[in-house]
Amino acid sequence: MDSANRDLGKCLAEQLPALTRHEAAVESDRCLYCYDAPCTHACPTHIDIPRFIKKIASSNLRGSAETIFAANLLGATCARVCPVEELCEGACVLGSEHKPIAIGRLQRFVMDHAHEHRNYPVVKSSSTGRSIAVVGAGPAGLSCAGELARLGDKVTIFEKREMPGGLSTYGIITLREPVEIALRETRMIESMGVQIKTGIEFGKQISLDELKQKFDAVVLSTGLGKTPALGIEGEQVVLDGLEFIEASKTRTAAMSIARSVLVIGAGNTAVDCATIAKRLGAEQVTMVYRRTRREMTCYQHEYDFARREGIEFRFLTQPSRVLLDGGIPVGLECLRIELGPPDGSGRPSPQAVKGSEFVLPAGQIVKAIGQQKPALAALLGLKTSNGFITVDSNFQSSLSGVYAIGDCIRSRGAASTVMAVQDGKFAAAAIHREFARTPAHVEVS
Ligand SMILES: Cc1cc2nc3c(=O)[nH]c(=O)nc-3n(C[C@H](O)[C@H](O)[C@H](O)COP(=O)(O)OP(=O)(O)OC[C@H]3O[C@@H](n4cnc5c(N)ncnc54)[C@H](O)[C@@H]3O)c2cc1C
Ligand code: SF4
Repeated sequence: MDSANRDLGKCLAEQLPALTRHEAAVESDRCLYCYDAPCTHACPTHIDIPRFIKKIASSNLRGSAETIFAANLLGATCARVCPVEELCEGACVLGSEHKPIAIGRLQRFVMDHAHEHRNYPVVKSSSTGRSIAVVGAGPAGLSCAGELARLGDKVTIFEKREMPGGLSTYGIITLREPVEIALRETRMIESMGVQIKTGIEFGKQISLDELKQKFDAVVLSTGLGKTPALGIEGEQVVLDGLEFIEASKTRTAAMSIARSVLVIGAGNTAVDCATIAKRLGAEQVTMVYRRTRREMTCYQHEYDFARREGIEFRFLTQPSRVLLDGGIPVGLECLRIELGPPDGSGRPSPQAVKGSEFVLPAGQIVKAIGQQKPALAALLGLKTSNGFITVDSNFQSSLSGVYAIGDCIRSRGAASTVMAVQDGKFAAAAIHREFARTPAHVEVS
């Protein structure tokens, strides 16, 4: 390894600085407080955006936080990680002629104030006497647990990792969301009465039968799995993109970064891995993708960001073998690709050109080619669609009383934090509608 960054925190500090009170006031004054506001429609959790912005303008930060929490309990995370260019800010009426309102940064300003002062204007209903188990403390599980607690249920979350927060804690790069932001949000959910039991893996330390006996309903929000295999020679030295990001978020010691890094993949996670490598000292970072810019799944603003960071792209390139010297990667052998007729994904199929092998030099190779489908589905015998858990319009799986939300059900389209949060909210409401039709559970000892 050629470069060892010394201060991870400094290299990867949150990209956008927090707004000052004055900046937030000036920005909120620009809002037109539109009737039937398009920004609210574009927000998957339908936060009443003009209302929370107006309350900033009148210095009512508690009221502003109350408006955000009413629609989205994970407003601090969403303010940072949401692709606002594609959602609320992309829909802002000021965007076409001026600059759209910086909705994400205003929301972050309000949420930071609420979390820093532990001032949570969230109203809870009286106890229902019901108890619900949630498996997985990512955004979907936390949102669902918080909403159920708000409705008066006793909720316990079982989480296999040491820290709660799911990908907000371990997977979203610090430039967008530091670990502490995700953790203080989970502490807020706990302050609402939700118990989070970490270090407990469902399927190993606790079974579905046990949960069904002890709780009135079970919600699965276990997300997806590890990065799938590339299936090429020498893969054992290729770093897993999710683990690479996790190390950059949770390690305090320096990370070893090679002078030249290749990232295999073309989605947002691949851009994140490339950004980290660059920020931590790699001189040359190249993303390798077998299709073209047109088929890349990362957002346009992520692509533009990567270009500004100096990241290079090799399109129509398919890895075929890792070249090693004494067990250390020195290069990636690739094949040139020609695009053929659409495949099952609807995109042009990549077809390797025979005899077109060439080598890209690399001291480190990272793969970021998505996540494995949820393993739990097969284990529990749940009905699946394309490997994802199938749910009905109430988020109920093929097993009665077992619900599923978040990435583990997202069989189509891009998954995002805000969609997971909205699933949690809808599932909590659906569970309550179901309860309204059935008598309360009585525990028999
Ligand atoms: C690298 C990366 C970057 C991303 N960046 C963004 C972004 O910038 N913006 C955005 O909107 N979205 C982003 N996403 C997507 C977003 O993070 C997810 O859509 C969101 O986290 C899904 O929430 P979830 O709760 O369904 O799953 P997860 O966040 O994956 O949480 C699942 C939780 O379940 C736990 N769990 C799993 N199995 C078990 C078990 N058997 N027992 C107990 N616990 C279990 C896991 O440990 C985890 O804590 C990103 C995703 C990745 C991979
Ligand atoms: S669309 Fe823009 S101007 Fe209108 S309410 Fe939303 S943020 Fe304000």
